[in-house]
Amino acid sequence: MCARTKYIYRFAEGDASMKSLLGGKGANLAQMMQLGLPVPPGFIISTEACNRFLENPNALMEEIWQGVQSHLRELEKETGKRFDGEGTPLLVSVRSGAAISMPGMMDTVLNLGLNDQSVQRLADVASDERFAYDSYRRFIQMFSDVVLGIDAEEFDFLITQKKRELQLDFDYQMPAGAWKELIEKFKTIVKSNTGSPFPMDPWDQLYKAIEAVFNSWNTQRAYTYRNINKIPHDLGTAVNIVSMVFGNLGNDCGTGVCFTRNPSTGEPKLYGEFLINAQGEDVVAGIRNPEDIQQLSDEMPEVARELTQTAQQLESYYKDVQDIEFTVERGKLYLLQTRNAKRTARAAVRIAVDMLDEGVLRGAEAVHRVTPTQVEQLLHKQVDPDADITVLAKGLPASPGAAVGKVVFDPDDAKNQGEAEEQIILVRPETTPDDIHGLFASQGVLTSRGGMTSHAAVVARGLGKPCVSGCDALEIDLKNERFTVGETVVKKGETITIDGTEGTVMLGEVPLVQPSFDEDFRKLLREADKVARLQVWANADTPDDAAKARDFGAVGIGLCRTEHMFMAQERLPVVQRMIMADRKEDRITHLNELEAMQTEDFTGIFRAMEGFPVTVRLLDPPLHEFLPDEVELREELHSLENDSSADAETKRNELQKKLDNVLTLQEANPMLGFRGCRLGIIYPEIYEMQVRAVMTAACTLHKEGRKVIPDIMLPLIGTREEMRRLREAVEETVKTVLQEQRITDLTYLIGTMIEVPRAALVASELAEFASFFSFGTNDLTQTTFGYSRDDAEGKFLAEYVRQHVLDNNPFHSLDVSGVGRLMQIAVEEGRQTRKDIQLGICGEHGGDPDSITFCHQLGLDYVSCSPFRVPVARLAAAQAAAEPA
Ligand code: PEP
Ligand code: MG
Repeated sequence: MCARTKYIYRFAEGDASMKSLLGGKGANLAQMMQLGLPVPPGFIISTEACNRFLENPNALMEEIWQGVQSHLRELEKETGKRFDGEGTPLLVSVRSGAAISMPGMMDTVLNLGLNDQSVQRLADVASDERFAYDSYRRFIQMFSDVVLGIDAEEFDFLITQKKRELQLDFDYQMPAGAWKELIEKFKTIVKSNTGSPFPMDPWDQLYKAIEAVFNSWNTQRAYTYRNINKIPHDLGTAVNIVSMVFGNLGNDCGTGVCFTRNPSTGEPKLYGEFLINAQGEDVVAGIRNPEDIQQLSDEMPEVARELTQTAQQLESYYKDVQDIEFTVERGKLYLLQTRNAKRTARAAVRIAVDMLDEGVLRGAEAVHRVTPTQVEQLLHKQVDPDADITVLAKGLPASPGAAVGKVVFDPDDAKNQGEAEEQIILVRPETTPDDIHGLFASQGVLTSRGGMTSHAAVVARGLGKPCVSGCDALEIDLKNERFTVGETVVKKGETITIDGTEGTVMLGEVPLVQPSFDEDFRKLLREADKVARLQVWANADTPDDAAKARDFGAVGIGLCRTEHMFMAQERLPVVQRMIMADRKEDRITHLNELEAMQTEDFTGIFRAMEGFPVTVRLLDPPLHEFLPDEVELREELHSLENDSSADAETKRNELQKKLDNVLTLQEANPMLGFRGCRLGIIYPEIYEMQVRAVMTAACTLHKEGRKVIPDIMLPLIGTREEMRRLREAVEETVKTVLQEQRITDLTYLIGTMIEVPRAALVASELAEFASFFSFGTNDLTQTTFGYSRDDAEGKFLAEYVRQHVLDNNPFHSLDVSGVGRLMQIAVEEGRQTRKDIQLGICGEHGGDPDSITFCHQLGLDYVSCSPFRVPVARLAAAQAAAEPA
């Protein structure tokens, strides 16, 4: 007989290591129980059950139902309450909880077990009719929304009407009688929507709620959230069934959310919000404005002390900042949830560094506490401190960074406009999980209600988007798509700026600037450098870029694209004359002019990179890229057709010559054409000029007593003979310059890019002449797949990814099995020929964290990426080297 799968676990049977089976919430509740902390009794139906349910709902429910009933009977014993029948009613919450936290994305039902009879018993036991009927109506509303799929607004409308009638501001002021009246009306709504009365049998309620929570794994919003956050779709959610404790029994009760450190700034101080006489949803929904957790010690000193102690205990156990939900029932503290807190990038860095200093974390652990995406967020724009700004309204600084965009009220509009690459700010009274697509598409979010832990705030922080929440000066008119602040009216489509660091809103477009790194950030990255094996170099073409790269911590330049120096406005005419020269002597004259300019460029770059290697790539693109467009030339010629002046004649001749050259240089497949080292072989004088410029600049610095490390790199090499000839030619020029300058002790390297599959396949032959390989994975991806890097992304690649023909865009994230395989061959064979060959990557993949992990595994020496990605790459290199704890 085969053993039946165990699907239900008591808290006492679990711990924090069982997250994939019990979900994060369940595993942590179990763990808190192991730690002796006050957790209300409960049990968990596993994620495995969810997956089985999604395949065959009836079979699973049949399999677990008896077990659910007997576990509930256990709860009855533990609590001394009754789920059905007489006695103090046992009410439960039925909560979702996946292995990876998906806040607010799946469903939860609270106060389950209430019906027309038990509500009265609850009122008697609590000696509080208002509380009992308030709980009952909440239950009907939630159950109707989550399980029966009835629009919540139908209920809200009646409540608002009643409050107006009684002239009340808040729900909690509503007397029992009013709730009783409303409950009857609610039941009618249910009947008219579903054709059946509201279920009065607690078992029936429970059965349906479990099904609803399982089904909520596959709602559109949960699915979208998983896609955005790259969470697998087959994890499933657990269902936590926990006996209810009440924060709304009176003024010795309350509920709140607290973080063991500030999740916005990282400040090591208890941070959070609470509400007296309320249930958890009131805090999260942002309906009443909660109080600061620091005030708790004034109102409930004992509870505040216990909470502070518990928070510390949990943080030391998990070695990470905790986000804790708690409820106080009649003065007794209960913990309803703990999880590793979501935090802003700034907070993540500060917390990692503080915990390192406190000795809680080792360097290898601390580098895993900040994600590469968070590092990117630290490069977020901020309002220019010198800008003259007028603040229109002030709310809460819910998620840092500043954003400019057109006001949009409807999340669907936001999605459409965002996809059309418009810059937009989503403005809502408050957001719900159903608005996630609109949030994702916006530059930032502004809400008139809700606190720092409201939905909009939490989601925006997770997405790294600026958010101003609780901006109550805003009167939002969703119907007419506009908001007003005093006299000012802002309509849909008008531009505003929000500053989520300050919590401010400004009219129009305010100038923004990039932030600089603070000391904590630098410290974390220094730690990362200690942990990493890969070095991080930068792709930089100008002294300014080089200086930026150094500031961001690059320890070399892996790619200096010299053609960018040819494109400058005053140089292009010289380059064009050089290209169009009929005779070699003329070409050399123009090249000499360019040499002086390039020497100056290289001197600046070497100076900025003193003591670090600078890899200069010789000219790579096809020459036609430096000439004007054919159509433009023809139009210009056409416009001069009827002009018989001498000037026009000269101009016509000039244009005709350019056109002839353009036509001669035209190619059907220029990326596979006359470019890279092929140019260097056919026009040796171009490379000779460039090598002279590099070495002359190097000699200047060397004579000043500065350390220069010039590396000369050949592009698009595919054969041994190309490599051999060009190495010989480069060496010849280098020797001549060194002799002219009378320098004997300047070391340099000559190497090649690996950009075509043939180069990887004959790497052992190339390594005879190449002292380094640098993988040019942009071209290598293009030539391995046969996808044009200029056309494929706009034509079919996005659709390929959408249809899962490819997992990723291979130009963004390295194709490990194809391009990666070629790299592996080149690494192995290159090393066989030349043991100490220097190996790096300078294609765009050098800044992509996943690709960096692969480069680490391959044993490269460095990755090279654009200066702004250097910090991300430093962290990713460290993470690749250190296993997460
Ligand atoms: C490459 O091909 O990966 C590379 C770095 O060179 P470029 O992008 O300039 O062709
Ligand atoms: Mg290339």
